Amino acid sequence: MESSRSAQLEAWLRYADDLGLSPFRLDRAPRSAPRVSPSGSAGVEAEVEPAIPVRSAPTATGTTPQAPALASASRPVASSAFLPSLTGASLFEERVDNDTLERIRSDIGPACTRCKLHKARRNIVFGVGSPAAELVFVGEGPGHDEDVQGEPFVGRAGKLLTQMIEAMGLRRPDVYICNVVKCRPPENRLPEKDEIATCSPYLTRQLDVIQPKVICCLGACAAQTLLNTTQGISRYRGEWFDYRGARLIATYHPAYLLRNPAAKSEVWKDLQKIMAVLGRPLKRR
Ligand code: URA
Repeated sequence: MESSRSAQLEAWLRYADDLGLSPFRLDRAPRSAPRVSPSGSAGVEAEVEPAIPVRSAPTATGTTPQAPALASASRPVASSAFLPSLTGASLFEERVDNDTLERIRSDIGPACTRCKLHKARRNIVFGVGSPAAELVFVGEGPGHDEDVQGEPFVGRAGKLLTQMIEAMGLRRPDVYICNVVKCRPPENRLPEKDEIATCSPYLTRQLDVIQPKVICCLGACAAQTLLNTTQGISRYRGEWFDYRGARLIATYHPAYLLRNPAAKSEVWKDLQKIMAVLGRPLKRR
């Protein structure tokens, strides 16, 4: 009874969050600081239509901070207008020399107990896809099916993600798919700030190794974590940001689309923007 009430509340909070209405989790400032540049990274910029603007990461108050002009610097830049990180600098703020996905997986280990999510998980869901992917999708955390199979996005939301990928003219093995936290939050609750702080440095390392052209955040948790903001996703959904040399865009989570199919047209617009940046032919739907 108690748990079904809390699951209902969780679902409602998640829904409000997806709509960008959420003042509820102002305490969820994640730890990793994005690299922000006023104009995007030149290497990627040159290959795409010049007219795609790149925004600075959204702030808690909705104003856009003056981003320092450090697009090519190797350190992430945390503007003073950003919320402070939770516990200071991330362990992996600097890129790890000669890092590989195998090394990250082995650093996590087969029996990680760094956060409380380990207590109920069956499998650590590391990530799947091409290590050379130009496009990485980042979700929130594994659900039941993912926990059982050890692979991200294999349940209902995952099937929709697969359809989205295929609608873009790609296949799942062409992209990389991973999550902010690698273990299933019980009853599909949102990952908590300490869990995100513990696990997200491994996500940062995965993204640093893959060096995709585009990172697509699926839902508020991934977007807020990578952009280091508490702003609701609908404030900046579909806009481009610069994240450690990659272009980052946030769109609605497929689970949100299952509840709100009308939002699919917005997501399709976002996917088309990604296709344009990847130089893939645009399709009519
Ligand atoms: N939702 C997520 O955010 N990630 C998954 O892997 C599955 C569902």
